Amino acid sequence: EAKAEGRGIFRFFEAAMGTHLRERRQIEHDLRHAIPRDELRLVFQPQTRLNSEEILGFEVLLRWRHGTRGDISPSVFIPVAEECGVILQLGEWVLRTACAEAASWHQPLAIAVNVSRVQLHNGNLPQLVQEILATTGLAPERLELEVTETALIKDFDRALATLQQIKALGVKLAMDDFGTGYSSLSNLRAFPFDKIKIDQSFVRSVDSNEQSATIVRAIVGLAKGLNLPVLAEGVETADELRFLCREDCNEAQGYYLGRPGPIEQFRYLVDRETADSEVVWGPSQRIV
Ligand code: C2E
Ligand code: MG
Ligand code: MG
Ligand code: MG
Repeated sequence: EAKAEGRGIFRFFEAAMGTHLRERRQIEHDLRHAIPRDELRLVFQPQTRLNSEEILGFEVLLRWRHGTRGDISPSVFIPVAEECGVILQLGEWVLRTACAEAASWHQPLAIAVNVSRVQLHNGNLPQLVQEILATTGLAPERLELEVTETALIKDFDRALATLQQIKALGVKLAMDDFGTGYSSLSNLRAFPFDKIKIDQSFVRSVDSNEQSATIVRAIVGLAKGLNLPVLAEGVETADELRFLCREDCNEAQGYYLGRPGPIEQFRYLVDRETADSEVVWGPSQRIV
């Protein structure tokens, strides 16, 4: 009885796993063709200064519209791309496309591009960044690379050397998803970051959950102490925004301030003629 049941359960898992593996292999295969098939797009999400709600730049996020399956989330396909190595091609495409786009703007707004741990450990990232900056003509200080802590665990020395070479180009570095990785504090001291991004899981419940509030307060204090600007990710409500302003957080990003969208939505901002930014980006003008 029990044995038969056990076999049944085993077969169930086997079947579930089989589907999983097949699906993974399919995604892998299709990912390799995503660039030639023109299935990739970039979306841009505003990053704003908190006290003035002035727009500082955008985070660049990758989107994949699969020929038959429709939109697939980066949280699904990025890990697959990392495992099969195709992230190197995707990552290069993202960097090149984003830098070319930003270089064409009238306003010198910043762009923040996510970089995978696989790219970081691949060896030629600094050379690639340098070549792309030269080719596109983007000023290095307008480019920021977002790196998560998990990217720093493997091969500390190599990660450090790579990040130092990138910084030497004049490119900025942000620590993404801060607070969710390992040994955050020693990483902050060891690596040459220019900004901390507080993970959205803490920001989400900041107005209702005393523990989240305490954690955000502590991270903001830590950043201040280290003289690093700090950005809160995933701001979804006016209350969250108010809390962050009160706590003297420097920058924010989130659905409340603007959802990620194609650059066409932001043309009037990036191509506006006025020299200094009188344009205030805030909830009053956010795109819904
Ligand atoms: P991330 O770098 O932490 O990016 C922030 C994610 O939070 C994005 O999800 C963004 O759309 C979402 N987000 C922004 N504001 C809000 C908000 O107010 N509420 C909620 N619920 N979500 C918000 P997305 O675009 O699905 O990307 C997920 C993750 O995939 C990214 O997390 C990043 O780790 C990775 N990713 C995306 N594009 C790239 C890329 O070009 N290269 C690499 N290596 N990874 C990427
Ligand atoms: Mg990011
Ligand atoms: Mg993040
Ligand atoms: Mg994330």
